[in-house]
Amino acid sequence: MSDSATRTTEKTTSETKVVSNFIRHIIDKDISNNKNDGKVVTRFPPEPNGYLHIGHAKSICLNFGLAQDYQGVCNLRFDDTNPEKEELEYIDSIKKDVSWLGFEWKGEPRFASDYFAQLYQYAIDLIKAGKAYVCSLSPDEAREYRGSLTEAGKDSPYRDQSVAENLDLFARMKQGEFDEGEKVLRAKIDMASPNLNMRDPILYRIRKVEHHQTGNEWCIYPMYDYTHCLSDAIEGITHSLCTLEFEDHRPLYDWVLEQLQTPNHPQQIEFARLNLNYTITSKRKLKQLVDDNHVLGWDDPRMPTISGLRRRGYTSASIRDFSDRIGVTKVDGVVDMSTLEFCIREDLEHSAPRAMCVINPLKVTIESWAEDEVQELSAPRHPKDESMGRRTLKMTRVIYIDRSDFEEVPPPKYKRLTVDKEVRLRNSYVIKCEQVIKDEQGEVIELRCSHDADTLGKKPEGRKVKGVIHWVSEQQSMPAEVRLYDRLFTVENPDAAAKKHEDDDSHFLDFLNPDSFKVMANARAEISLAGTQPGDAFQFEREGYFTADPDTSSDKLVFNRTVSLRDSWAKAGNK
Ligand code: ATP
Ligand code: MG
Repeated sequence: MSDSATRTTEKTTSETKVVSNFIRHIIDKDISNNKNDGKVVTRFPPEPNGYLHIGHAKSICLNFGLAQDYQGVCNLRFDDTNPEKEELEYIDSIKKDVSWLGFEWKGEPRFASDYFAQLYQYAIDLIKAGKAYVCSLSPDEAREYRGSLTEAGKDSPYRDQSVAENLDLFARMKQGEFDEGEKVLRAKIDMASPNLNMRDPILYRIRKVEHHQTGNEWCIYPMYDYTHCLSDAIEGITHSLCTLEFEDHRPLYDWVLEQLQTPNHPQQIEFARLNLNYTITSKRKLKQLVDDNHVLGWDDPRMPTISGLRRRGYTSASIRDFSDRIGVTKVDGVVDMSTLEFCIREDLEHSAPRAMCVINPLKVTIESWAEDEVQELSAPRHPKDESMGRRTLKMTRVIYIDRSDFEEVPPPKYKRLTVDKEVRLRNSYVIKCEQVIKDEQGEVIELRCSHDADTLGKKPEGRKVKGVIHWVSEQQSMPAEVRLYDRLFTVENPDAAAKKHEDDDSHFLDFLNPDSFKVMANARAEISLAGTQPGDAFQFEREGYFTADPDTSSDKLVFNRTVSLRDSWAKAGNK
């Protein structure tokens, strides 16, 4: 076994973790047999038809992580065989996301379309070897000939055309002589194979559309299954990792490479895709959420996209940690959203400075405090990490506390503020509520309080004050907008819940959570947060972890709630 079989993962805590899995076992064995000269070359092959999501992050961490651990390389290759679907915006976002996750691909990103000329030559080789033919069945006829899971297919009448005729027709396909759907190039394998993928699969089809990389150079485009194995071989990939649904395509992957006797034959290895509850990981459906304005964009902080998670405040370290924790298996399963939340909480617990922010303010006037007096108070930025230094708070006569920290008629054992009772202001004095001011509708709009001047950094004399609440000064604070997020869907598996509508798969939308986004526009943050930049993360004491949004400006801070302090979802009776 090679030394690198033991993977140590850099973590925010001092703990290190050893992760092994069946793919590493295969690689270890290959290395000990000196297969591929002991090299490891992997690739991450996204189709640029959407933004990457958390499932892709698993594949990225796996492919790039293995390359790193075994001193190999990992290529970034855009699978752009589908000319009309891809967009440059997606290519740019994918590059950004992979880099942000902390990985480097070797050289320039590659495109499957880089190999179109080579793939065309390979197709000619297959025709010459009698292994491929041009088929003129209409799509409907071809479907009929294909058979079904229980019924063998029938040979196409074009299957036994001469090599010369196939070469001529294929060349004319390339020259644009035929219309879309009129002809295709097919592999000649076995129409009776129990594996439908082996029933003379299509290798090339005619698509008269412009391609974002190759322009109008081609009007025939190679199919994914044909392109993928050959691109892997051309790049010298040693281990081609893909998700389980490609297991049935592996015989075709191997067939193509065997017929063409490519100089190397990468090994396809399948692993289980990541499914996360309360969300979806299908680019097509995520695109529908964006296109139909159910969310505010691909980077909406509720989206399971890498860009959404980043905007929400997830760090790349937390996503890599998540990927390590869920591991790699051969069995499909569903990972609990709380696992992802655990990872970011753990990261931010160590790295995020503490601050106070009143999300839903209630005015409090401390009548015993002089009108213009401003007292500077000092508080640590992190209770367990002195190296983060201290911050200055400003205590004034008028402050805000959170509405949820006051009850006129408190429930039993209430520890926050109520009439005639005391509470401690975090990092400040003990105050007592003397009077409640209401508006005409009977809603509490202000509290009049007194303070005990002898309680700064000290317990009050002769009595116990149990509750501690957070606060900010009215004048010495920053206006803030706080965006609160909840699960995007109300059910664990929106796809399964929508399954009864067999004909229409847009019913996952029926289970969107109408309360997944709430804007608290009048929040106030402590004055030390002036100058906060997008991406800065804080633990707002007693509230959770929050990250400044790109919408933040010098006069208004905008924060996204990244994650609550504890897993309150389960506690709230949602599970
Ligand atoms: P989608 O259905 O979301 O479009 P895809 O598999 O078609 O997914 P690709 O862009 O082709 O998307 O995926 C690039 C790589 O990421 C592939 O190797 C694929 O297997 C992997 N991948 C995609 N989704 C997941 C997932 N949920 N878990 C793990 N790997 C995934
Ligand atoms: Mg795909």
